[in-house]
Amino acid sequence: MLTINSNRLNSRLQAFAAIGETAKGGVNRQALTDGDRSARLMLAELAWARGFRVFQDPMANLFVWRNGLDEALPPLLIGSHLDSQPAGGRFDGALGTLSAFEVLESLEDAGTATERAVAVVSWTNEEGCRFSPGCMGSTAFSEGVIPGTWQEKLATDGAGFAEELALTLASLPEAVMLPLGFPVHAYLEVHIEQGPSLEAAGIPIGVVKGIQGTRWLDVTVTGQTAHAGTTGLAWRRDPLHALTAALSSLYGTVMPEDPDARFTIGRIMAEPGSVNAIPEVVRCTVDMRHPDPGRLDEIEELARLRIGREAERQGCSVQISRSFDMPPCAFSERLQQVIADAAAACKVESVSMLSGAFHDALFVNRVAPAGMIFVPCRDGLSHNEAEHVEPSDVITGCEVLAQATVSLLGSRI
Ligand SMILES: [Zn+2]
Repeated sequence: MLTINSNRLNSRLQAFAAIGETAKGGVNRQALTDGDRSARLMLAELAWARGFRVFQDPMANLFVWRNGLDEALPPLLIGSHLDSQPAGGRFDGALGTLSAFEVLESLEDAGTATERAVAVVSWTNEEGCRFSPGCMGSTAFSEGVIPGTWQEKLATDGAGFAEELALTLASLPEAVMLPLGFPVHAYLEVHIEQGPSLEAAGIPIGVVKGIQGTRWLDVTVTGQTAHAGTTGLAWRRDPLHALTAALSSLYGTVMPEDPDARFTIGRIMAEPGSVNAIPEVVRCTVDMRHPDPGRLDEIEELARLRIGREAERQGCSVQISRSFDMPPCAFSERLQQVIADAAAACKVESVSMLSGAFHDALFVNRVAPAGMIFVPCRDGLSHNEAEHVEPSDVITGCEVLAQATVSLLGSRI
């Protein structure tokens, strides 16, 4: 067993939470801002102080490297991200990055030589709130290239992506450049669950088996605008009536009949949007999630069928298009076993579970076996300044990561 230093880890979490700290005790450290650059610098300085090497790649993914005996072997990668939401919490991302750094320091404290290198990674722009999309760093790493369309992107605050990326790279001139997407032995990430199930079950460790697929639809139903007072039922072609009837039947079916399904209408707009006129056009988004791609197809089919049927009943026409399609990801079964065994070795209970949110591990999983360790967060709250993880759960997550790291270093995948 590798012994970690719990006081050091908890005080590191506090020190990083002070960078971009908000009045309500959360963190605003959005990707590629001065705050993000300060956090990267703090991690690099901690790394240099321990004699680790520090690298970055052209996407400003940051790597803290502890050499192995055989430098020809691809490294074991452990980590997460340091950027945050504008009103984010102090654990989303930082917990995984600093737990990984604690494992690296604990290996150093113990004087353990490893055959292959272990590298801590902090991926750039996981959150996707200042520059969209999220998980830019891990996406570019997995594809080996920065998509050309990203260069022109503007932040929500007007800053240019290319300029902010260049500033970030230049803020760590001592970090040696690595090519984007080098070979990796495996990847492990600790993250808060960002949902309520671990806390509700009283289980400290989630072994993540995969990330559910997400599909978005843009729906437009077109009818005819007319006077709200003079138009009787028989003369109405009301697109909102059609859409609400279809949605009500979908709400009554999709999630009640399938506990793994998620069905959400996050945006709905009626035009012209007048209090005393039947709408001409109604637009809405549909967010559908499921771990099984076949079920996602079925839910989409059902949504198209019911919206189409209700529109026809109301004399309206319908257009439906997909705006986003992220297939489900299944993590390495071998790594799931390594994490479950690590939890057992640490004498803590674990449970196999799906992730409802995307993570960098989803993208790394495309080029190397990836695994995720979830820890509970209070009330399932995340992307919120009140986000909180009990110090004992912080330690348990890091201990399981340490044990899984040690067991992976001594085994083939
Ligand atoms: Zn995160």
